[in-house]
Amino acid sequence: MAAYTSTLSTPRRRPRAALRVAMLAPPWITVPPPGYGGIEAVVALLCDELVARGHEVTLFAAPGSHSAADVRAPLAGTHADQIGSSLYESDHVSTAFDAVEQAAVRGRPFDIVHDHSGFTAAAMAARLSVPVVHTLHAPFNDETRPFYARHGHKVRLVAISHSQLEQAPPGVQVADVVPNPIRVGDWPFCADKDDYLLWMGRMDPDKGAHRAIVAARSASARLVIAGPVQPGQEEYFRSEIEPHIDGRDVSYVGEVGGTRRKELFAHAKAFLMPIHWAEPFGMVMVEALACGTPVIAFPEGAASEIVLDGENGFHVADEQGMADAVGLLDTIDPLRCRKSVASRYDVALVAGAYETVYHKVINTNAGRTARSARHSPPSRHRGVLAGPRRPPRIQHAR
Ligand code: UDP
Repeated sequence: MAAYTSTLSTPRRRPRAALRVAMLAPPWITVPPPGYGGIEAVVALLCDELVARGHEVTLFAAPGSHSAADVRAPLAGTHADQIGSSLYESDHVSTAFDAVEQAAVRGRPFDIVHDHSGFTAAAMAARLSVPVVHTLHAPFNDETRPFYARHGHKVRLVAISHSQLEQAPPGVQVADVVPNPIRVGDWPFCADKDDYLLWMGRMDPDKGAHRAIVAARSASARLVIAGPVQPGQEEYFRSEIEPHIDGRDVSYVGEVGGTRRKELFAHAKAFLMPIHWAEPFGMVMVEALACGTPVIAFPEGAASEIVLDGENGFHVADEQGMADAVGLLDTIDPLRCRKSVASRYDVALVAGAYETVYHKVINTNAGRTARSARHSPPSRHRGVLAGPRRPPRIQHAR
């Protein structure tokens, strides 16, 4: 097993010293998101909870964002249709970094930067004197592995699931696992289900809306599909999804938000998760479960840990297995579904886990700074966590 700390299992402690946290959201969508936006939902919850626990949080996010934290918008507009554009991401990050540096110059330095924004901040983290915690929101794959092999040492990497951690390449040190949060009390619990299955997400073949259609057909069950068709997904939607929409057996309700989204989750008989990719977390699963809705999933990525086979849903191998599991839904207790989320992913647990991470990083950084001041000349090239190079840790491939 890889060397990491499962920070959630840390026993509760007394409140610790208040920290000054610079939280870096992605620049594309407001915090909280009006509809689609898993990372933005995570950042929204975390900021509110950290402020409630007495920390001073500054949130750098898309304009129009709202939070209990002090919100700053480095860019003039949102860019939901240009997710990943280096022009906007580098502008957003560099402007936020300028503000972090200015805070130090004014004698009010941040204690920690917590980055959720993509790749630029991690790559450039060595520019800052403040330690940077980088939550891994993307899977380790052929594109991201070389990036983290080169730049991962500049930040404290936090995985959002154990399965994501296990895919870290050799030499990339992921020190903590902190799952994404949900405020369970914000989600309506419903034990009395309507007669439909639900699929919700972005229209990406990896997420498998087309496989959900096959499974629902095979189970002779109604299916509701929700989610945005993002740029680049039009052809998949046109060819694989649209031809099956008849408003009766298969309905498409577009991108949903607010109460409508919660009601859809709460009243569904089950949530379908027929993924074919290493899902790093998958907020839709915990949202469904929080509402007392079982999840039937292909156990890939974090679906294998969020869904507890036979307890809050089922692990199935294919579309036919998914259809067969629909017949077993009566054996799943909706209350147990909700509890399986409250006990593992509630925002109070997650914020407490991040407090632990922040303090570990700050202490490590302070120790390093003191040691390097005593023993070595300053180096422009050192990452905040660099110090003497650590030996690579062995990670087990899946
Ligand atoms: N979502 C939403 N409306 C939609 C589709 C999705 O609000 O029409 C939300 C969904 O509830 C979840 C997030 O978008 O909070 C998607 O996050 P997830 O981790 O499931 O997927 P990913 O980040 O990989 O797209």
